[in-house]
Amino acid sequence: MTATEPVVIHAPEIPGDPCRVCAQSWPCFPAQIDYVAEFYGRPAELATHLAGWFTAAVTELTARGRSFDASALYRRYLGWVDLTRRPRSRGWR
Ligand SMILES: [Zn+2]
Repeated sequence: MTATEPVVIHAPEIPGDPCRVCAQSWPCFPAQIDYVAEFYGRPAELATHLAGWFTAAVTELTARGRSFDASALYRRYLGWVDLTRRPRSRGWR
């Protein structure tokens, strides 16, 4: 990436929708990679952030009368957060 390239943020237009950039279910793989980099070692903060997105998605989908599997939605939004967890140290103890 050069300094002149615009930053592409993979996010839905409306919570619960697919990614507006790549049209994949959100959080799409590019969004997950961005979040892993941003929140590496801070899985609780990422979980809190994504829980807000999850809540907004449930609220929006419900308001629009769209049916959805809440468990599958939860797994999609929060099921991968452990990727940001640092590996446990195998120190000298
Ligand atoms: Zn995307």
